[in-house]
Amino acid sequence: MFRTDNDDVDQHVSTTLPVGEEVARLLRVAHERYRNLDDGAVADYIPALAKVDPKLFGISACSLDGETSDVGDATVPFGIESTSKAFVYALVTNALGHDAVKDKIGVNNTGMPFNSVMAIELHEGSPRNPMVNAGAIATTALMPGASPDEQWTAILAGLSAFAGRQLVMDDDIYESEMRTNQRNLALARLLQSYGRLDNDPQEMVDIYTRQCSLRVTAHDLAVMGATLAGGGVNPVTREKVVSPQVCRDTLAVIATSGMYERSGEWLFEIGIPAKSGVGGGIVAITPGKGAVGTFSPPLDEAGNSVRGQYAIAYLSRAAGLNVFASAARDGLRDHRAPKL
Ligand code: GLN
Repeated sequence: MFRTDNDDVDQHVSTTLPVGEEVARLLRVAHERYRNLDDGAVADYIPALAKVDPKLFGISACSLDGETSDVGDATVPFGIESTSKAFVYALVTNALGHDAVKDKIGVNNTGMPFNSVMAIELHEGSPRNPMVNAGAIATTALMPGASPDEQWTAILAGLSAFAGRQLVMDDDIYESEMRTNQRNLALARLLQSYGRLDNDPQEMVDIYTRQCSLRVTAHDLAVMGATLAGGGVNPVTREKVVSPQVCRDTLAVIATSGMYERSGEWLFEIGIPAKSGVGGGIVAITPGKGAVGTFSPPLDEAGNSVRGQYAIAYLSRAAGLNVFASAARDGLRDHRAPKL
C-alpha cells in the first residue's frame, strides 16, 4: 500500500510550479524527511543491481523553463531499467502514430506484476500494456529500422535527446541482465507464439535489455520527464523530441500503469503520472509544469523505490503537482440536498 505520510502538509493548488528557489527548498525538505527511511529492499534478481548502495538518495526537479534543482545523490548514475519504457513508448508512438501502437500493444493496465506471463495468457497473447515487460519488448520491436542495430541506434538517439545528453550503457548491468534474462526471453517467445512479435525474440530482448541498462541520474530523469510535461520540447536543449500528442498519450499510459499493479493507488494518493524502474529511479510528470526525478535503490514488493515514492508524495502536495487537485472558487450558494 502507498503510505504518503503527508497529512501535515497543506495541499497547494496552482497552475504553475513555485519559483526555482522555493522548489529547491522543497526538494531539500523532502530529502531530509526521508533520507533515513530504510524500508524496502534493493532488487536482487539482477546481480549487478544487488551491489548498489542502498543509502543513495537523490531528488531533482526540472521546470518547463529548463530550471533544474538537485539535492543529495541527484547526479549519481544508475540503471534506467523500466523507466525507459515510457520514453521508448513515446518515441515509437511518435514514429508510428497513436492508433498503430494502441492497436498492436494496447493501453490497459494488466493489474499484474511487470514480468507476468499470466497477463499474456489471459488475453490471447496481447501484451495489453507497454509499461510491463512483454508490452515493452513488443514496443521496442516496433521501433523503425532496417536491422536490430538500426533500431537500437534510433532508441539510443531518442532517449539521449530526451535527456539532453549522450546516454551510455552500463556494461556490467547489461551483461548481468543478459545472463539472467530467461524470463524476458520466455515472454518474447510467448508473444511470438501468439503471432504478436514479428521480429526475432532474442534480438528484441537484446535491444530491450540495452535500453534498460542505460545509465541515467535523477537529474536526467527530471529533464526527460519535463520534456514530456512540455509538449515534447526538451526544456534545457530546446530540441523538439516528440509531438505534444505523443506526450499526452504517454502520460495517459503511465498514469494507468507506470507504477505497475500499484498504479491506481498511486494516482489516488499522489495524483501524478509516474514511471518507476527496478534500478531505483522514478520520474513523476505534471503536464504544463515540469517533472521530478528520484533515485533511491530500496524497492517495495511491486518494484517501486520506497524513498522516491515518499519524496514525490511530499512534493505533490507541497509544490502543487497533483493533476487532479483544484481550488474551490467562491460559490454563489451552497448546494442543498433535495428533501426526500
Ligand atoms: N530490465 C528489467 C527487467 O526486464 C526492468 C524491470 C523493471 O524495471 N521493472 O526485468
